[in-house]
Amino acid sequence: MEFDYLVIGAGSAGCVVANRLASNDRFSICLIEAGGKDNLPWIHIPVGYFKTMGNPRTDWCYKTQPDTGLNGRSINWPRGKTLGGSSSINGLLYVRGQPEDFEHWRQLGNEGWAWNDVLPYFKKTENWEGASDETRGKGGPIQVSKNRVEKDIVKAWLEAAVNKGYKWTDDYNQESQEGVGFFQMTMANGLRCSAAKAYLSPLKGNKNIEIFTNVQTTKILIEKKVAIGVEVIMGGERKKIRARKEVILCAGAIGSPQLLMLSGLGDQKELSKHGIEPLVHLPGVGKNLQDHLQARPVYKCNASTINVETQSLYKKIGMGVEYFFKRSGPMAMAASLGTGFLRTDNALDTPDIQYHIQPFSADRVEDGPHKFSAFTASVCQLRPESRGHLEIISSNPEDYPKIYPNYLSTKKDCDIMVKAIQITREICQVEPVASLITEEFAPGTSVNLNDYDKTLNWIRDTATTIYHPVGTCKMGKDKSSVVDEKLKVRGVDRLRVVDASIMPTITSGNTNAPTLMIGEKASDLIIKESY
Ligand SMILES: Cc1cc2nc3c(=O)[nH]c(=O)nc-3n(C[C@H](O)[C@H](O)[C@H](O)COP(=O)(O)OP(=O)(O)OC[C@H]3O[C@@H](n4cnc5c(N)ncnc54)[C@H](O)[C@@H]3O)c2cc1C
Repeated sequence: MEFDYLVIGAGSAGCVVANRLASNDRFSICLIEAGGKDNLPWIHIPVGYFKTMGNPRTDWCYKTQPDTGLNGRSINWPRGKTLGGSSSINGLLYVRGQPEDFEHWRQLGNEGWAWNDVLPYFKKTENWEGASDETRGKGGPIQVSKNRVEKDIVKAWLEAAVNKGYKWTDDYNQESQEGVGFFQMTMANGLRCSAAKAYLSPLKGNKNIEIFTNVQTTKILIEKKVAIGVEVIMGGERKKIRARKEVILCAGAIGSPQLLMLSGLGDQKELSKHGIEPLVHLPGVGKNLQDHLQARPVYKCNASTINVETQSLYKKIGMGVEYFFKRSGPMAMAASLGTGFLRTDNALDTPDIQYHIQPFSADRVEDGPHKFSAFTASVCQLRPESRGHLEIISSNPEDYPKIYPNYLSTKKDCDIMVKAIQITREICQVEPVASLITEEFAPGTSVNLNDYDKTLNWIRDTATTIYHPVGTCKMGKDKSSVVDEKLKVRGVDRLRVVDASIMPTITSGNTNAPTLMIGEKASDLIIKESY
């Protein structure tokens, strides 16, 4: 089997790259996905993330190592394993990040990644439901819709934040992100708009692309420091697929560094430990791991929330009927409805925390909602300083790497999270939300938020990922960078990484939109070089 381009991983970035390359009939493309087809109905129903997360048919079901920053807890790290990758199981929330994030990437030496460079690619990906202007895109493959589910408790929280003095925003995806408002979502007519739906569905019938599912790539084949193809497991057999032009790794923030290491690209000493012949010493592979950590204050309330609405079979049937006929109601709900990008200190130039306001609550998503009416005011720090890493444990591609997130390992990260919890309680004491709240369930008023250690300890005991690992194949110029600004792997020809792992620093918000942008920008770079 031989193709011009091999795209490894059909996730958010991989689908974009496969589509843009396949749109050019000079090329032959092979897209290789370890997961199956996206034909499970729950993938397409927005609220289906409750059914796809933790489901081995759609989720790799990774778990972190016990983390000191979380008082020794190990937590679940879901990653999509199906066509569309994590965009098929994510919370549908559409957030680009702050222009300053990309200015920072540029300042780190990454030519071509400043805000004005990446804005055209953000626009190219989307078909925004709102008014068109110079920052928002029309006619792109990803449908970005406005919120279509109203919940009084969420509205009341947003109004309380405004009454407390925070700004309102109708569109946080403009140049200024700051403010509270409703989330935008990757949804078309009440159905999830995953990267597969947007970028692979239109390719049906294209003769120049082959899409393999349930085929795991086990190694990149490298000869004389040139990537010439990949080894895969297909129908239980090991096979080789050759690339005439390039191998493009889009296996995500865990899969991409793992594959590089299995192929001899990583820290020399680490690889030798597992009997892997080091081909290029790239000490940064698997390092620089960043994620958003969410703390989850929960408030019992006397307004209707999903917790109680899903307890009655009668109401559940009503929800199903509403969704079936109108594509609206709780089943059309993204993972959160309200958001807020706020500054914990007025001296800051841009927001440093983000809220996810959810009209439901649970101890853990896997456990299902609480039996009482309540909402969650989840809050995360936008640009943590803490850095984790991944380690492979053997040369066997079936063995999951060990994940060390290293959350809350700097004083600044702890300070910001403690402050965020204080701000949350303050907002909840303001009308109109105050009179709807019957009790602060978590952390609970027994936790004195002026007691820094106790508050931090509650965060360490209960916080969890908001599913945004990035940075493990960092783009940059320094010795720890893995790819250059054209996303080419250092020291190897005809090999690129194109996915969330190339982010040098995490963006200020949910990471799907910037990963789609990375896919668009990389496609342009690849196509331009092919002439
Ligand atoms: C549960 C969850 C909720 C989230 N919620 C949101 C949200 O609401 N909004 C938002 O913006 N972001 C959200 N995110 C994050 C966002 O979806 C990801 O950042 C983004 O999808 C990452 O894209 P990617 O292309 O880097 O990787 P992925 O989309 O994860 O794609 C990687 C693909 O490669 C495949 N693969 C891996 N290894 C191999 C191999 N060896 N061989 C072949 N194929 C392989 C995987 O199966 C997968 O399909 C969420 C993520 C999760 C998991």
